[in-house]
Amino acid sequence: MKFGGSSVANAERIRHVASIIKAYQDKRPAVVLSAMGDTTDHLLEAADKAVEGVVDVAGVAKLHEDTAAELGVNIETIQSLLTELKQLLTGISMLKEISKRSRDYLVSFGERMSVRMMAAYLESQGIPAKFYDAWDIGIKSDSNFMSAELLDEVWKNIPACLNAYKDGKDNHIPIVTGFIAKDVKGNITTLGRGGSDYTAAIVAGALNADALEIWTDVDGFLTADPRMVRNAYTIEELSYLEAVELSNFGAKIIYPPTIYPVYEKNIPLYIRNSYNPEFKGTKISGQKTSEEKAIKGISSINDTCLITLQGMGMVGVSGISSRTFQALANQGISVFLISQASSENSTT
Ligand code: ASP
Ligand code: MG
Repeated sequence: MKFGGSSVANAERIRHVASIIKAYQDKRPAVVLSAMGDTTDHLLEAADKAVEGVVDVAGVAKLHEDTAAELGVNIETIQSLLTELKQLLTGISMLKEISKRSRDYLVSFGERMSVRMMAAYLESQGIPAKFYDAWDIGIKSDSNFMSAELLDEVWKNIPACLNAYKDGKDNHIPIVTGFIAKDVKGNITTLGRGGSDYTAAIVAGALNADALEIWTDVDGFLTADPRMVRNAYTIEELSYLEAVELSNFGAKIIYPPTIYPVYEKNIPLYIRNSYNPEFKGTKISGQKTSEEKAIKGISSINDTCLITLQGMGMVGVSGISSRTFQALANQGISVFLISQASSENSTT
């Protein structure tokens, strides 16, 4: 089960999510959490301010301290993270510069605090739970900071760490940080914005879970973005491929790489609304979906660039496409749509 930032945004939401987790206790869920509310954005803002010489953790600190107080949980582990966070920002403010590596270290505090909060609250309610920073269960990545790729060994590491729970030898519900990992040198990395979904998919895949449930704040995968299309409604079922297509072309509901690990293991993926837990949401699976509606949904992408490269000089030049795409790849640009005129003089 994965709960996003808005699902754990404050004490009331955390209590509510705890009740959902409790209702699933018999199914032995593993839980993956995002940072509380907009904490990731706030941490990034704090980084920008620190570069300008101003250290300000007040907002982030207050949210976590107030929430802990309201939930009546011990805040020691969170307090020590807040102290470390302040030290880090102070360092950045002295250097007046920040690397991608430091930025990942900085944003990691959001997820690390939220899992501590949830585990402490569950425990205080008599529900055995234990928090894990991703690396505690062997979630390792390469060193591509801000959009790291997980290493293959995670498929072995995660079950090695959590099978005792799965098999019933340990009763503590694991509450795991989404989004973050460590590289082989021990540096903290992140998997890209929205990456908690991906962590959850890897955990589900590695544990051969019965299902992956992504709990968010809308009624599942909708036919369109409800902010643009007022009468958008929930799509009950999608195939993995349809979900990938819609996500790749702008549907924001899940982080696109999320589908692959569950598709590989044929694990159904459910998108559920934590504000409306009775509602079924969307099921994404390998099953063939109804053909009744040929078009499942409409998505759109903003801030996108369309480039056309054309010219007589391209005709018959061997390797021209390879050079074009290599130039984009060198800049880390992912091309999501290609169209080519029949002769080689135009590629879009
Ligand atoms: N907290 C991270 C973000 O805001 C990761 C996530 O929520 O999936 O991007
Ligand atoms: Mg998300």
